[in-house]
Amino acid sequence: MMEKALKLMFFGAPGAGKGTQAEIAAKKYAIPTISTGAILREAVAAKTELGKLAAGYMESGALVPDDVIVGIVRDRLAEDDCKGGFILDGFPRTLAQAEAFDETGIGLSMVIDIEVEDERIITRMSGRRVCPKCGETYHTVYNPSADNVHCTKCGAELTIRKDDDPEVVKRRLTTYHNDTEPLREYYEKKGILRVVHGQEKLEDTTALTTAVIEEYLHGNQ
Ligand code: AMP
Repeated sequence: MMEKALKLMFFGAPGAGKGTQAEIAAKKYAIPTISTGAILREAVAAKTELGKLAAGYMESGALVPDDVIVGIVRDRLAEDDCKGGFILDGFPRTLAQAEAFDETGIGLSMVIDIEVEDERIITRMSGRRVCPKCGETYHTVYNPSADNVHCTKCGAELTIRKDDDPEVVKRRLTTYHNDTEPLREYYEKKGILRVVHGQEKLEDTTALTTAVIEEYLHGNQ
């Protein structure tokens, strides 16, 4: 049987664990992750035109305009390493983005929705750490780096994302509920939505997402 190309999207509130699960699946299935948040953070750090445009939206917990985001993703997906499959993390985030993505004809194998209640998200975000150099993400309790201070991968000192400030997190959750959550129904109607309940332990959530992916790859869908 020919192996199916895995065109995956992780869906869920900010802090639900999309990025972490995307990284784990990307390694396991040897396909790239396209994280619009990570691309934007790199642009902000490098002070490019894109970064200057995006910074204000990001710091206040708002979304960056659709046309900017769609352009970034379209360009990235056109690169050779995406031909055998890819994982989208943090895109699409609005109905307009989802429709623009559909128009490319690239399609998605499935959308994995990681469900976590808002209260747990707010607690979790306070422990989130990110490497300013290589972008690796950690959590002080759930997914610590080797010494909980430096990046295990590249050694740089870990930082807290500006938009992980509790007040900004609340605004990001509101944005999620207003603009992004309606997409769940959009993908449910297409029959490609799979729901995974985010667990306390990272590896338990990974086991659930892996089961859903394996079912797609080896099941009779
Ligand atoms: P994330 O790391 O996915 O939580 O993204 C961080 C921030 O980047 C978001 O709060 C938005 O300001 C911006 N961003 C990331 N992805 C998108 C997207 N698909 N559409 C609009 N804004 C985005």
